[in-house]
Amino acid sequence: MDLSAVSLDTAPGAPGAWCGHCGGPTSEGQHDSCVRMRELEPQRYCTQCRRRMKVQVVPQGWTATCIAHGSVEHSTWT
Ligand SMILES: [Zn+2]
Ligand SMILES: [Zn+2]
Repeated sequence: MDLSAVSLDTAPGAPGAWCGHCGGPTSEGQHDSCVRMRELEPQRYCTQCRRRMKVQVVPQGWTATCIAHGSVEHSTWT
């Protein structure tokens, strides 16, 4: 096992350094309400690079796209 080979790539939408709702650093402040809002509103910021994401709302949910990290899809269907 070579630990240096572990990929640092994280999947789009995985918890990152930035809050996907308010764009603030997840290591600072309270983002509980942001997490709740993300159930209702599309993610606005990429959690990995803090870029504004291109949001597409579709009847079954939304898709937010970062030009560097790809799309995050969220289905509101339960
Ligand atoms: Zn936040
Ligand atoms: Zn990104």
